[in-house]
Amino acid sequence: MPELPEVEHVVRALSPVITGRRILAAELNLKRIAPGISRPAFDRQLRNSLITAVGRRGKYILFELESGHVLATHLRMTGKFVSLTTDQSLPPYAHVIFYLDDERRLVFCDMRQFGRMRIFTKPPKELSTLAPEPLSDQFTESYFVETLSRSRRPLKHLLLDQTRVLGLGNIYAVEALFLAGVNPLKESNRLSKPRARKLYQSIRDVLQEAIDAGSTLRIDLADGNGSYFGTVERFWRVYEREGEPCVQCGTKIRRVVQGGRSTYYCPQCQKR
Ligand SMILES: [Zn+2]
Repeated sequence: MPELPEVEHVVRALSPVITGRRILAAELNLKRIAPGISRPAFDRQLRNSLITAVGRRGKYILFELESGHVLATHLRMTGKFVSLTTDQSLPPYAHVIFYLDDERRLVFCDMRQFGRMRIFTKPPKELSTLAPEPLSDQFTESYFVETLSRSRRPLKHLLLDQTRVLGLGNIYAVEALFLAGVNPLKESNRLSKPRARKLYQSIRDVLQEAIDAGSTLRIDLADGNGSYFGTVERFWRVYEREGEPCVQCGTKIRRVVQGGRSTYYCPQCQKR
């Protein structure tokens, strides 16, 4: 499942291809991809709209339209955009088709059908309640320290709550905790200020590192098969390394289950 850094790369790949293009027609073939709207209304609201920008909020890809509407897409598990000429045949699972004014089609494919689209003018709750973008100036150290001080939840839980800290999935949360030398089970408000500041920096480092590493992702907008991310192999410091030696001290990495998800940590380096 793509996390924020991967979605950032999809945005970067899409932007030069569709910014400045006009949507001539929008065909919603699988209703469940855009549950809040009828097929004709989907087309009506997008038809003849100029795409002025492609952006991102958390894991939502945002097409900003000249009309003031925004089309938000969440890829979930296997959603992907493909850019095709009019004579290329449609890839499998082509659920939404945008006909563009450069004689190309932007196709949304999704094998698992969990991807979702939504059109709005005012951000819906699922977007407006998201925490500040983690790599933006709005996500400040004082915001983070304050957020921790107001929660008794274990740190790992808090880091996964997108309304408090945005952008960390299970992998990046455990990696950031390791980098900061912080115990994932610790209650958030009991973390010392210096450690909280260290964790803040680790979160930004882990995400930035993933975005930089992601430049090797092959997001091929011409390939309609599979998902973008199926074959990505990365080295993680603790994630999925249960029983293997810690990269810093050699102690065996431990796994615990928190909120139904695996947390990996080094009992030696992450005592506090
Ligand atoms: Zn260690």
